Amino acid sequence: MDEQTPPTLERDGFLLTRLDDLVQACRGGSLYYLTFGLACCAVEMIHAAAARYDLDRFSMIPRASPRQADLMIISGTLTHKMAPALRRIYDQMAEPRYVISMGSCANGGGYYHHSYSVVRGCDRIVPVDVFVPGCPPTAEALLYGILQLQRRIRTREVHSR
Ligand code: SF4
Repeated sequence: MDEQTPPTLERDGFLLTRLDDLVQACRGGSLYYLTFGLACCAVEMIHAAAARYDLDRFSMIPRASPRQADLMIISGTLTHKMAPALRRIYDQMAEPRYVISMGSCANGGGYYHHSYSVVRGCDRIVPVDVFVPGCPPTAEALLYGILQLQRRIRTREVHSR
């Protein structure tokens, strides 16, 4: 092995890395997401989890309990009435935790931006790591957002909260 070039699995049969990098790669590669749909966008989230795109391939498992989940996908219209519950569920999630805002409604109120009852962006209630645009965003768009989140976790662009 040349001292200048890092070892590769194919050539040398082993890899060298930092423990910190390994931990971040494991975190990004094992996101457990909440089954938490608010409106029509949730159907696209379900689509992403179903057979065609199969989020399980990314080691992403849906969880019904916030205490076992580290990713919240806010898919749908967030109302002021729902906002305290959303915040409480977020606070109950395992750390480090991440949030994807999915769709125009979650991102900024969408069609209901001027409604008295709708929150104009879920980032007013919880910190958001990735925004996925569209009404509704396709399952492919959500998948792309998830890949962006995984990249950001690996490169430490998002930090533990
Ligand atoms: S962004 Fe569009 S599809 Fe998603 S919850 Fe709002 S109205 Fe429904």
